[in-house]
Amino acid sequence: MPTTATDSCLEHNARYARGEGLHVATHPGSQPIRPARRLAVVACMDARMDVEDLLGIQTGDAHVIRNAGGVVTDDVIRCLIISHHLLDTNEIVLIHHTKCGMLAFTDDLLKAGLEGDPAATDLLGKATGRSFTPCRTSSASPAAFHAFRGAPEPLDSPRNEANIERLSADVRRGMAAILSHPWIPTTGPDAVTVRGFIYDVDTGRLEEVK
Ligand SMILES: [Zn+2]
Repeated sequence: MPTTATDSCLEHNARYARGEGLHVATHPGSQPIRPARRLAVVACMDARMDVEDLLGIQTGDAHVIRNAGGVVTDDVIRCLIISHHLLDTNEIVLIHHTKCGMLAFTDDLLKAGLEGDPAATDLLGKATGRSFTPCRTSSASPAAFHAFRGAPEPLDSPRNEANIERLSADVRRGMAAILSHPWIPTTGPDAVTVRGFIYDVDTGRLEEVK
């Protein structure tokens, strides 16, 4: 029997990957504001992931925080602090995934491309398989795109040891950022737990990052 909300999500995920649908999509009626499973999920915005479906959670069960990469940014930390201290969540799940677009560029490359550097626009066009249209102007924001570290690979490349390690490294970085934050308690009666996963978009399965 699963003992935590996260374990229960893992059990649901195995059933989802086998073709079972657990998320009920209809309006559940009036519900309390606090997430019923006391869970906060940070995940990539990738169109191939439906977080409620792949974890088998229902409307009202969890906070779902999504951005490009599922990266633990300042804004994600902001959300997690509010989620825990005001809305009583105590389990955090981070989800990166195979074939993530954040493996296909670097921050410097995208900035240079947007600013109109011809070599960068050419490389971005090749990596994404679409013509990259530069804006030919500079901007102070966003300060970072948080592309995953390591050598970029073409968009949607098959999984291999190198890209799994790049994904795992960012999951571990995110977990460390949460666990070391002074406003996120990890010991005592108010402690939160954090676990990190890579979702395989081809199999539908979550794999834990240790
Ligand atoms: Zn992604």
